[in-house]
Amino acid sequence: MPGYELFGAQERKEVNDVLETGILMRYGFDGARNGVWKAKELEQEICNTFGAGYTQLVSSGTAALTTAMAALGIGAGDEVIMPAFTFVASFEAVLSVGAIPVPVDIDDTITLDPKAVEAAITSRTRAIMPVHMCGGMAQLDELKAIAAKHNLLLIEDACQAIGGTYHGKHLGTIGDAGTFSFDFVKLITCAEGGAVLTNNEEVYAKCDQYTDHGHDHKGKDRGADLHPFLGYNYRISELHAAVGLAQVRRLGEFLTLQKRNHSIIYNTLKTVDGLTFRRIPDPAGDTGSFLSFFLPTEEMTRDAVAELQAAGIGGNFYWYDNNWHYIRKWQHLQSGSWMNRLFDEQKKQILHYSNQAFAQSDAIMSRCISSLTSLLWDEAQAQERAGKMAAILTRVITAATTPA
Ligand SMILES: *Cc1c(COP(=O)(O)O)cnc(C)c1O
Repeated sequence: MPGYELFGAQERKEVNDVLETGILMRYGFDGARNGVWKAKELEQEICNTFGAGYTQLVSSGTAALTTAMAALGIGAGDEVIMPAFTFVASFEAVLSVGAIPVPVDIDDTITLDPKAVEAAITSRTRAIMPVHMCGGMAQLDELKAIAAKHNLLLIEDACQAIGGTYHGKHLGTIGDAGTFSFDFVKLITCAEGGAVLTNNEEVYAKCDQYTDHGHDHKGKDRGADLHPFLGYNYRISELHAAVGLAQVRRLGEFLTLQKRNHSIIYNTLKTVDGLTFRRIPDPAGDTGSFLSFFLPTEEMTRDAVAELQAAGIGGNFYWYDNNWHYIRKWQHLQSGSWMNRLFDEQKKQILHYSNQAFAQSDAIMSRCISSLTSLLWDEAQAQERAGKMAAILTRVITAATTPA
């Protein structure tokens, strides 16, 4: 998954272009910048690469989610349905616009269960936020149909699935808005950064304003810009955009390596008796960032995690115990530990939804291991890793299922 693994001459060249001019900000200074507009160039490159109508770069993936929701008019008291398994940023972003995150169960796709989504809809629901976790994708046809039927917005958190597709369309371009993260461990990185993708010109214009204190960016003089709406500062710098520009141009190279290594691991692990795999709604569109698989029981899964670790085989994530990706461990959300005070009504609703039971998700996540794909392995290294993993998994499953 991580683009930082292949940082090199291309990235340095783009950054140097910016250092030559010394104009590190994306707006203004038209003369002094000598024609160097990395953020603008990257936005165009993202539109071309992913087939998005419009792209707004921002300072992080979290900022991208906040910006997308603000631009779509999601705010006070609105409920946003999202999966109980995601990175905590998706929740933070909903809270940041004054809305209420409504976590619901995932299914064997380890993304939103459409049935759970439909069951969670109330008169206050405004949006569904599928999170395309671990390089794969949510069931977008089903979710789109639910959104259309109930007149809800669809916001794709595609931060972990850059380059993935669903029936030929890029993840992040299918809903009313989609978001990417370019943080340091994503497939494309620029150290810190993100993007909102949309095909709606008005939503894009609002993103453009929201991320720069409300500037309408219509004139040549920043000081004379109008501010039709309140905004904040979620700008990306030219230095960050420069790195991103080099990385996006290498997306094809990264994906080819990632998919090759992913299939080497998959082709070996699929011969392990008793192992099952995450259901991918459109297997051709999977990015291969992770291979996510299930053991028959939680106990076997815990044994396997421990044995893989003891054997020095890194990159095998057991999200069920993870403090950042699964709701079970989000004590701050469940206990309402905010530094600043919330409106009582908002806090009450957040606590109500966050403290539900997620038995269906528990039953899936407690048996799930996600194995990271490195871009740096050559074929022999991927094969060696696959062989070692298969031997351990076979041993664990056999030991647990053979009568003593
Ligand atoms: C990384 C990530 C984000 C947030 O991105 P940052 O750039 O780190 O703020 C949001 N959602 C998911 C699913 C992520 O993996």
